[in-house]
Amino acid sequence: MQIIPAKTPGFVKTLFPNFVWNIATDNKELYLTFDDGPTPEITDWVLQTLKPYKAKATFFCIGNNIEKHPEIFKNIIAEGHTIGNHTYNHLKGWKHKTKNYIKDTERNQALINSKFANHDSSIETIFRPPYGKFKTKQSKKLQELGYKIVLWDILSYDWDKSVSEETCLKNVTSTAKEGSIIVFHDSVKASRNLKYALPKVLEYYHEKGYVFKAL
Ligand SMILES: [Zn+2]
Repeated sequence: MQIIPAKTPGFVKTLFPNFVWNIATDNKELYLTFDDGPTPEITDWVLQTLKPYKAKATFFCIGNNIEKHPEIFKNIIAEGHTIGNHTYNHLKGWKHKTKNYIKDTERNQALINSKFANHDSSIETIFRPPYGKFKTKQSKKLQELGYKIVLWDILSYDWDKSVSEETCLKNVTSTAKEGSIIVFHDSVKASRNLKYALPKVLEYYHEKGYVFKAL
């Protein structure tokens, strides 16, 4: 069941103006994001699926998965996509002390930075909280540390097995517009819906003249 709406309501965005919900633009561009990887098979499938459309995307990676699958992580970078931080252990913010939450996030960022040959410390670090939830204290601290916090405009609900492939696709195609930030997951749980919806989303918007950009 879709408890959180697929499309983020405007009032929610106004409540948290310091977070990035979508990109303000009139250009035909969309921002695909993939959370929870790198994951064997699925992440490489995503990369191959994006390629013919020259689509760039943003991957909010879990540190533990980067550590387990460094080759896949390298492939994401090699394809020119953007890497975002999604904590090291996919923490639920409200269950953890701010100190530990920040430590876990910084651990992941250090790992991400170490994978770039010439890491420039002035590069913007972007962060998406797992489950889209964290304490105000945690978000404030992360912003102080220079993280840009990215939520979303559209949730595909790809991870939810009670959501059909068609509904997952429609969650995106019925609501995406110029500058939308769209959430998918390169995870095992999401793979059924993702494998159905992603190629169709790419084709649908490509035909309408849209380009897919990384944050
Ligand atoms: Zn996640």
